[in-house]
Amino acid sequence: MSYSDLQRPIIMFDMDGTLLDLAFDDFIWNHCLPERHAQVHQCSLEQSQQTLFQFYHQHKHTLSWYSSAYWTAKVGVDVLQLQYEHRDKIQARIGCHQLLEQLTTQGYRCWLLTNADRAGLQLKLENIQLSPYFELMISSEELGHAKEDVEFWQKLQQLHPFDPARAVFIDDTVAVLKGAEDFGITQLFSILQPSSNKGVRVATEIPYPALDHLTELFDYLENSQVIDAKTA
Ligand SMILES: [Mg+2]
Repeated sequence: MSYSDLQRPIIMFDMDGTLLDLAFDDFIWNHCLPERHAQVHQCSLEQSQQTLFQFYHQHKHTLSWYSSAYWTAKVGVDVLQLQYEHRDKIQARIGCHQLLEQLTTQGYRCWLLTNADRAGLQLKLENIQLSPYFELMISSEELGHAKEDVEFWQKLQQLHPFDPARAVFIDDTVAVLKGAEDFGITQLFSILQPSSNKGVRVATEIPYPALDHLTELFDYLENSQVIDAKTA
């Protein structure tokens, strides 16, 4: 890699709820899994919801939360299989491909950093064309820490050196953005409506600038301190 390549800003993206519509994941975890769990365990839907939502609450923001193998063992339902059954519902968020296309054309380096496990990442990549835009795609499962933890970012930097001052990171989860901020990334963006099935969040309640249409990122990049790829 040449010196000028290293000078280019890196745009780091979350996947679910940022580039892809979180409605799919909401549907799987809040609708399909309770139904299937009730069938498998011969209990009422209400009982399943109560059991599962209690598990969700306990494990949120941990690596286990993002592991389909963990959930399959824990609740006795093949969660990955369930996602494959409904894969036709996986959708990109509005502006996703337009943004990625323009960024790569303008010479920005793009990294995909997801808390989805490797199997979950594979499923999404099989259904939505994202791979061509990214020089790096990382599942937190590979690094052994969720993105919420500063250790994720330290490990990432050890394996793939980058300058936090020249990185931009976009993620719909505030706890994840906080982890990145603790590490030293300052140009952080959230997402106003991660799931098309849920309402738009109130921008003033999110402690980071929030994008609606993904291409709004260009307005920020033009005014930011990140050196333009074309002049670096
Ligand atoms: Mg997300």
